[in-house]
Parts: sequence; C-alpha cells; structure tokens
Amino acid sequence: MSARNILVINCGSSSIKFALVNETQETFMLSGLAERLGSPEAVLHWQQGEQKDSLVLPGADHRLALSHLLPVVQQAAAGELHGIGHRVVHGGEHFSGASRLDATSLQAIRQVAPLAPLHNPANLQGIEAAMKLFPELVQVAVFDTAFHQSLPEHAYRYAVPQALYAEHGVRRYGFHGTSHRYVSQKAAQMAGLPAEASSWLVAHLGNGCSTCAVENGHSRDTSMGLTPLEGLVMGTRSGDVDPNLHSHLARTLGWSLEQIDSMLNKDSGLLGLSGLSNDMRTLEQAREQGHDGATLAIEVFCYRLAKSLAAMSCALRRLDGLIFTGGIGENSALIRSKTVNHLSLLGLQLDAQANARCVRGVAGAIHADGHPRVLVVPTNEERQIALDTLALLD
Ligand code: ADP
Repeated sequence: MSARNILVINCGSSSIKFALVNETQETFMLSGLAERLGSPEAVLHWQQGEQKDSLVLPGADHRLALSHLLPVVQQAAAGELHGIGHRVVHGGEHFSGASRLDATSLQAIRQVAPLAPLHNPANLQGIEAAMKLFPELVQVAVFDTAFHQSLPEHAYRYAVPQALYAEHGVRRYGFHGTSHRYVSQKAAQMAGLPAEASSWLVAHLGNGCSTCAVENGHSRDTSMGLTPLEGLVMGTRSGDVDPNLHSHLARTLGWSLEQIDSMLNKDSGLLGLSGLSNDMRTLEQAREQGHDGATLAIEVFCYRLAKSLAAMSCALRRLDGLIFTGGIGENSALIRSKTVNHLSLLGLQLDAQANARCVRGVAGAIHADGHPRVLVVPTNEERQIALDTLALLD
C-alpha cells in the first residue's frame, strides 16, 4: 500500500489550524490556519513547501472555511486523503485513547463539554462541519486528556468531598497528553531504550505549560488538573495559587467570578509578573537590558517549573531522563539552564555547549557527561494525531 495521508484539524472558537500529514514524511505536505472565523475579516492561510497563499472569506464560519480548504487539501494530497484526525481538548473519563467519530462518540464529547466549556464546543463545531463535508472519510478524535487516564487515583483526586468527584467529575484530568506521549516515545528512541521500559520527566513549555511523569509509556502524574490553569506559570495563566485567593479578592475588592477567572487565565503568568509580555523571547531580551519585571518573571517561571519536576519525580521509580519540549523548551537555553540549576539534588547538570546548540528544531542530549540524561525533543502533536488516526484506520 502506498503511504497514506491524514488531514489533522484543530478547531478553536474562531480558528482552524490544519496540517496534511503523510505517514512516511517528517515535514507536512500542507499546513495552515483559518482565523477570525465568523467575522468580516475571516481569512484562510496555507503553506505548501515554500509557497504561501491566502484567501479572504468575509463572514465565513467553520464549515465554509473547511469547504474552501477541501480542494487545496485534495490537490496537495493528489486526491489521496485517507482520514481526518481531530484534536479534542477534553475526553473526561470516557476516553483513554483516540476514538473513531460516530454518533456515540460525538454524544460522549458533548457530555463532557461542561468540563471544557471554551474548547469542546469549538472542537465539536469543526468535527460536525468536517463530518458533513467529508461523509465518506474515517474521522477520529484524539484527546488532550486521554494519555493521563492512566494516573493512579492518589494522583488524580483532589482532597475535597467525595460527592464532587462522584457526581460532578471534579478531579485532575491533565492536558497536553498528545505532546507528552509523542516526546517520551521519541526520547526513548533517541536513548536506545524501549518506550515500554523507560521513565521520563517531561516539561512541555509553550504558551500553556505542563510537566508529566511517564513510566513505561504511561502517564503517572501531570501538573495540569481539572482545567489547564493548574500547575506551572504559563504565558498568561497563573498556574497554582492559594485557592483562597478567589474568596479574598471577592471579599476585599468585590471582584466577580468572571473577573477573577479572566485575571487568572488572561492577565497573569509571565505577562502578569513581568508587566511586559507573555512571550518568552521578549522577556529574555528585556532581561538582557535589565528589565526588573522580565527578570523576576523568568526566575519565578524556572523555580516553579523545577519544583513541579521534583514533585513529579515522586511518581517514578527510576529516571531515564528529563525532556524539554514546546516553543520555550525547544528554544530557550536560558530557561533550561536555570531550571536544571534548581534540580541539583536529582543530580542533573547541563553541558553548556550542547544546551546552546539545541534550538530551532534541533533535538539532542544536553546533559554533562556522567550526569542523568536531559534531552531536547521537538514536539509534533499533528504527527501524533495522524499516527493515532492511522492506527484506527488499520
Ligand atoms: P503554543 O503553546 O501556542 O503552541 P509554542 O509551543 O509555539 O506555543 O511556544 C510559544 C512560546 O515559545 C512563546 O513564549 C515564545 O516566546 C517561546 N519561544 C519561541 N522561540 C523562542 C526562543 N528562541 N527563545 C525563547 N523562547 C522562545
């Protein structure tokens, strides 16, 4: 059989990110973004090799954008499209792996929507449009939460009354599962170890950030919780705060739940601490020029990250290595170095030259000789979604 092509779709409330993935090629055959959907400025951008194109689609919704995408995809795939893989944020306890999309799985995704009120309805919009437009194609949902369904109960339960878990699903779910799974498998390959017999700490550091403990190919703990707000300092999210902060702000400042939610999700993290930007590149440059807020934001980010990784080590019996991934993890030698400096009790130490070399998609080992393994592994969630879709086609 010739190599197959899968279209990977990630729908947000006003955007669709997509990539056409061939099972034997590392680079995407086609990739792009439809953005500002539902507005007069709606536009579709795509890139095929070096060639970039766009199409303005005033007022287009998800379905219209996908219908314009179809001929572009068919042309790039030379008419050979074998399936569609959809990223879905929340699978609740219902999905511990990828699932073929049909009436039953769609209903289950709708049922868990209250756990991800911003994300799942947007994902569903894209799925429903794609199923109508491509009824003959196999379509698969791949969940950000599914990899973490292997967490033991002592890692996923909150110390709150049982009924909140039993009746309302209040527990830790974790996110970024597709990335944690992909990079831990890649790291095992790089280290010449079987994925099913190796143990990793993973730091996925993008706009959202999370850590994960992966043992023998299974997630054993992760820093995000019921929602992606828990855990590390992120671009605009606070990560962990004292849960009493909510009542404190309501009581002392009269803030509403919506104001507190918005502050913790959109105005906090690197942006809130620095008072400057949520973008690590900007903060690194500002720190070089002596900006106090940027300096502090980077210090807090790295300390909290190291603290989380040390906590994750409780879930492992052995450590085969620490993995850095995501835009910051793959590119920032400074963040990797500062974080590892806080982890000397785990015996970790970097090789400064190797650390500086691993940027812009370069994978590699960055630990000093004789110290536990530290790897930079570029993530590729689209490829993992395509592989999961292909596995269900088989
Ligand atoms: P997303 O979570 O949206 O996929 P990315 O994984 O692309 O985000 O990560 C975005 C983050 O990576 C931003 O904070 C950006 O500043 C950071 N980043 C990208 N390149 C560099 C770099 N060379 N040095 C430091 N940070 C970088």
